[in-house]
Amino acid sequence: MQTNNETMLAQTRSNTPTNKTFVQAMLNPNADFGGLYTFGKITPFENLTKIYALSYTEICKEIFQQLHIHFDSHLLESALQSYQNFGSKDIAPLVKIYPNLYSLELYHGPTYAFKDMALQPFSKLLDSIATQQKKKYLILSATSGDTGPATLQGFAHSKNVKAICIYPKGGTSEVQRLQMTTQDAPNLKVFGIYGDFDLAQSTLKSLLRNKEFNAYLKTNGYELSAANSVNIARIAFQIVYYFKIAKDLAKENLEEFSVIIPSGNFGNALGAFFAKQLGLPIKKICIASNPNDILTQFFTTGVYDIREKELKLSYSPAMDILKSSNIERLLFAYFGADRTKELMESLENNAYFNLTDNELNTLQNLFEAKSFSDKECLQGIKESFASGYIIDPHTSNAYLFAKERQNKNETQVIISTAHFSKFAKVVFSALSGKNPKDLEALNDKEALHNILAIIHSNLDTNVKLDFGILNIFTKKEIHTQSYNANELDTYIMQWIGNEMN
Ligand SMILES: *Cc1c(COP(=O)(O)O)cnc(C)c1O
Repeated sequence: MQTNNETMLAQTRSNTPTNKTFVQAMLNPNADFGGLYTFGKITPFENLTKIYALSYTEICKEIFQQLHIHFDSHLLESALQSYQNFGSKDIAPLVKIYPNLYSLELYHGPTYAFKDMALQPFSKLLDSIATQQKKKYLILSATSGDTGPATLQGFAHSKNVKAICIYPKGGTSEVQRLQMTTQDAPNLKVFGIYGDFDLAQSTLKSLLRNKEFNAYLKTNGYELSAANSVNIARIAFQIVYYFKIAKDLAKENLEEFSVIIPSGNFGNALGAFFAKQLGLPIKKICIASNPNDILTQFFTTGVYDIREKELKLSYSPAMDILKSSNIERLLFAYFGADRTKELMESLENNAYFNLTDNELNTLQNLFEAKSFSDKECLQGIKESFASGYIIDPHTSNAYLFAKERQNKNETQVIISTAHFSKFAKVVFSALSGKNPKDLEALNDKEALHNILAIIHSNLDTNVKLDFGILNIFTKKEIHTQSYNANELDTYIMQWIGNEMN
């Protein structure tokens, strides 16, 4: 598979490059050296104007070329066709909220959250590579609510790929849960576990490392892979939409801009960082956190300390996380492999690490961060609605941050990561002023109808409720059982085994 001009990927904890190409790392993201695959030195584009003249999918191909990512061109081409199923012809529309404030809407894919931006083409690519190689794959994903639906949707009915998602029971919205539990394709399996997202993610990592489990899959003809944002292929697709911002702003003769990103596992923001390294005129990358403020703590103090922290369930569940996996790739890009190894080992062994003042200053040249409470989150939804724009609770954290930074005289772009209908109860609470505690009896479907009524009586808008979202409430729930995380290996082996008989 290797050719001479193929550039190998870097690894975060060693100065020697891996012997893996991008495609190999995508298929097998479980690096045996303990760190993550990542991009080495990135050469910026020389001529951005030329790039801006291209379509979204053409820009993607240019970026992959620049990053030495080589797929058979017809495979990439057909994977990128998946964007044609998006609800917006624009794929990722840039909407002006008011002068100097824009929103990049990343939720027009089939599962209404930004995870589709990467997982739609990713799943199609993996499926066609599996077919080409005449191999079968088992894809694992751990989800805080949006990766799961996007992975399952992407791989539904694939002949050569089975997909599994692990999610924390009670840690997602009702729509997110239904998007997983109603999946009826026979090649999909959903495990709701007792625990939080960090447990789901660490369970996935230990399954990838579990020798017995891997051996069993091999015997049954399956290769194991993972669709989490530890997979470098997901990050690659998440670079592209930042170029869409620049392309659209260029039409208004605007050049430099700052992005404000609701962040959890830091995959979305890492896409922005690589986009900047590719030459995009991004001034600041602003990290918006919810009450789980580990990233804000990190970017404001240089300390990453989870010793005293407990995960809190917030109104923006996709950001409920303590171990933000992609920070490791950022550390590598800034401080190199030796230092990254030192810092990550400190995190693994002591549950914290500390940057030097110098290191922190370097990061702060580009990054800002701020966290917001759930109460503020509701207020943000309400305020944004008052200016005629409806947002989901994740996006609200970014909106609030942007409002605070308004006086900086920058063009600001908030990254809108989910459609409001996925978090109907929280949004209804924000718009109606009703206390969320008083809405416990309400289900998401009723909340949605209430929101629509509010929208139509207040806004001169044609916001319509997508039928895809409504249909989900009438579909049969299939994957309803709850599981102990430490027993998943057994259940998965049983599931694979049953299929074989
Ligand atoms: C996944 C997700 C996020 C967090 O993105 P990261 O790449 O993990 O930082 C934010 N908002 C929504 C709606 C998401 O689904």
